[in-house]
Amino acid sequence: MAKAKSLSVFQAGLLIAALVLVPVLLTLLFITPNSEIKERGMRALLPQQLKNTIIDSQVHLDAYAKELGELQARMMRLDAQSQRLAKLAGEKDKQVTNVNVKPKFDTKDTKPLMNLELDGRGGPLINARPMTEPDLQAAIAELTQAVDARDDSLSSIEAKILQQSVLKDMLPNGTPVSAAYNSSSYGWRIDPFTGGKAFHEGLDFPANTGTPIRAAADGIVSEADHTSDYGNIVKIEHGAGLETRYAHASKLLVSVGERVVKGQEVAEVGSTGRSTGPHLHYEIRLNGESLDPRKYLQN
Ligand SMILES: [Zn+2]
Repeated sequence: MAKAKSLSVFQAGLLIAALVLVPVLLTLLFITPNSEIKERGMRALLPQQLKNTIIDSQVHLDAYAKELGELQARMMRLDAQSQRLAKLAGEKDKQVTNVNVKPKFDTKDTKPLMNLELDGRGGPLINARPMTEPDLQAAIAELTQAVDARDDSLSSIEAKILQQSVLKDMLPNGTPVSAAYNSSSYGWRIDPFTGGKAFHEGLDFPANTGTPIRAAADGIVSEADHTSDYGNIVKIEHGAGLETRYAHASKLLVSVGERVVKGQEVAEVGSTGRSTGPHLHYEIRLNGESLDPRKYLQN
């Protein structure tokens, strides 16, 4: 009896121990993996191949998100440019009512713009079937091309409006350096330093160090300084919010406040600042916003 009783006490002990241990074990079994999943994400439970696919898709999605972000930035810039143009056109209309008739735009220039607007709206995004990755790539490429064309159209219209406005005689139309420019340098391009796309606000003229840089119009020097990005830079104000900038110079030949005439040598070509080789970085700005210099050099 005594033996049986002591055994039953032992059994009761085991039972209690089991009752205490089972929840602890259950907790260890279920809670611990759960917290691990929380830490490492659901991917911890997936087979390696699927994990790689997900990581791959994420990389692709990130790339598309970046491209779409760039397109969004470009659209915002175009919107701002359209608003500026509308303002310019409005001002022009007010000024010319008693002098001239309506603006003389070629339909050649305005028509493609209208078509692009429709293209942009109709868009490849309205698809009955689900979009595949090549579809998406094609859509982005198409949109980029449309934005490019619109960018160019707007710049041409802007130049035409300005050339018919009260500013026409003040527009900087001189050639700043006797060298050919890199025509793809103005606008959206791959930044040689960051590798990302950025708006390059000037036109680059590769030329030998020491080549004379000349004022594109009469004006007053508003800056002749060294900056980390532009290197040695000369800024000339031409009045009415028009300004030209000549950057990366090796040598500055004018100082702030100096009056300069069109064609006067103001600096020498160099490679100072954020530059990969000797060239002139030339900008035309109207109220701080960059204009496409290519549209003003052909005069
Ligand atoms: Zn440049």
